[in-house]
Amino acid sequence: MSRALCWIRRDLRLHDHAALAMATTAAREVAVVFVYDTVILDTLPDKADRRVTFIHQSLEEIDERLRQYGSRLVAVIGDPAVEIPRLARSWGAKAVFAAHDDDPYALPRDARVGAEVELVTVKDHVVFERQEVLNQSGLPFRVFTPYSKAWKQRLTPEDIREHVPDMTRLSPTPPGTGNLSMKDIGFEPTSLWLKPGATGAAERLAWFLGQIDDYADRRDFPGVEGTSGLSVHLRFGTVSVRECTKAAMSRDSKGAAKWLDELIWREFYHMLLANFPSVTTTTFQEQYSSLRWPGTKADFDAWCAGQTGYPLVDAAMRCLNATGWMHNRLRMVCAMFLTKDLLCDYRWGEAYFAEKLLDFDLASNNGGWQWSASTGADAQPYFRVFNPVLQSRKFDSNGAFIRQWVPELAGLSDDEVHWPHDGLFAPEGYPPPLVDHREQAAKAVDLFRTHQPR
Ligand SMILES: Cc1cc2nc3c(=O)[nH]c(=O)nc-3n(C[C@H](O)[C@H](O)[C@H](O)COP(=O)(O)OP(=O)(O)OC[C@H]3O[C@@H](n4cnc5c(N)ncnc54)[C@H](O)[C@@H]3O)c2cc1C
Repeated sequence: MSRALCWIRRDLRLHDHAALAMATTAAREVAVVFVYDTVILDTLPDKADRRVTFIHQSLEEIDERLRQYGSRLVAVIGDPAVEIPRLARSWGAKAVFAAHDDDPYALPRDARVGAEVELVTVKDHVVFERQEVLNQSGLPFRVFTPYSKAWKQRLTPEDIREHVPDMTRLSPTPPGTGNLSMKDIGFEPTSLWLKPGATGAAERLAWFLGQIDDYADRRDFPGVEGTSGLSVHLRFGTVSVRECTKAAMSRDSKGAAKWLDELIWREFYHMLLANFPSVTTTTFQEQYSSLRWPGTKADFDAWCAGQTGYPLVDAAMRCLNATGWMHNRLRMVCAMFLTKDLLCDYRWGEAYFAEKLLDFDLASNNGGWQWSASTGADAQPYFRVFNPVLQSRKFDSNGAFIRQWVPELAGLSDDEVHWPHDGLFAPEGYPPPLVDHREQAAKAVDLFRTHQPR
């Protein structure tokens, strides 16, 4: 084949790149293309959305590297289903290569592109996808532990080998002149707390590998930097999941084994989304699809603003609002509080996280919400409701995280900071508790009990 496009989407790197390796094997001349997708961008309410800055800066790095190889990035703005076929035709590309994307928005988009030009897609975002890991009846797993066991049994070195593109095939005359500016795409640049691009990802992975052995012991404490912080890079593909998997498997420690399990949770949720796409609109466990959540919009708004009177929940939500980041333990605590204490529909919280999280990923976000709401595959049982104050005492025992994000409570003792409502004087400016945890948890259990199969 003479010419081909490599359309990058959630694989924003040039190394270990399945689609680019395939394109540069199949064609003599390859141009790397990114479309700033107006179908997605137009729905973002915040014109300083951090994800757009992350993508933009990661593409700057890609463009710089492509220039070192005598080529450059082709960046356009519009509907990819229109722009990709247009570019392919005008440049005489015989095919377009891209990585699989199983999001419900991406599948029809790719089908529209595929109807216009030859679109060749390949697995890249996960180690195992779709129906690659099935149970003994040939069906998708619904429970994590046997899935994880089968996943590990199936793994061979071939599954995590590096996909090396042939950079000599990059076009010296691609149909574009480099990245667009933030102004061109109608967004404002914003500051990020992490370094974007493949360089940022590589530095973060190297840093984390220096402490991976302690991961199992440190991962649950929001006041400690005990996790990799790689989720944003995994989301946008600035790091390769194969590289992460190989790194985890090269260490023989409890921490590395635990980290591999977390990568497999990610694969589990992607597998569920591919096989049960209805999870994006309804509960995975059918008996809960008719459950009516009695929670109010006013309580939901207080939760969003970090004004529930539950310090750990409020600290976590304020951290999310300010940075686009929330620690995994806190995601579970906040999600469970919204669904089991405020009795609000998990979909409200899921949509709020989708808007705010820098690492927002449809499969993992839906999986995490349905786990916490007890409606999902292998979810937390409905009768095991987290006590947000006990979670606080256990995982932020000295209150450092709470003090960082809820300054009204900064002067309280290590004991009071978890529950500041019993003293004679309420801390100034901090709200009283919105609900009584025990009462609400009992209501939640009753609500779920009425939906048990007979
Ligand atoms: C309600 C809720 C919503 C969530 N929404 C998202 C989301 O939108 N995007 C997202 O990437 N993760 C989501 N998670 C999972 C998890 O919280 C984040 O992946 C994790 O906090 C990222 O931090 P890290 O990179 O330091 O993770 P580490 O602990 O270092 O784990 C390594 C990688 O494994 C994956 N991973 C870890 N835990 C999980 C998990 N429980 N489920 C799926 N993958 C996991 C991530 O890709 C992560 O980067 C959600 C969890 C909950 C409970």
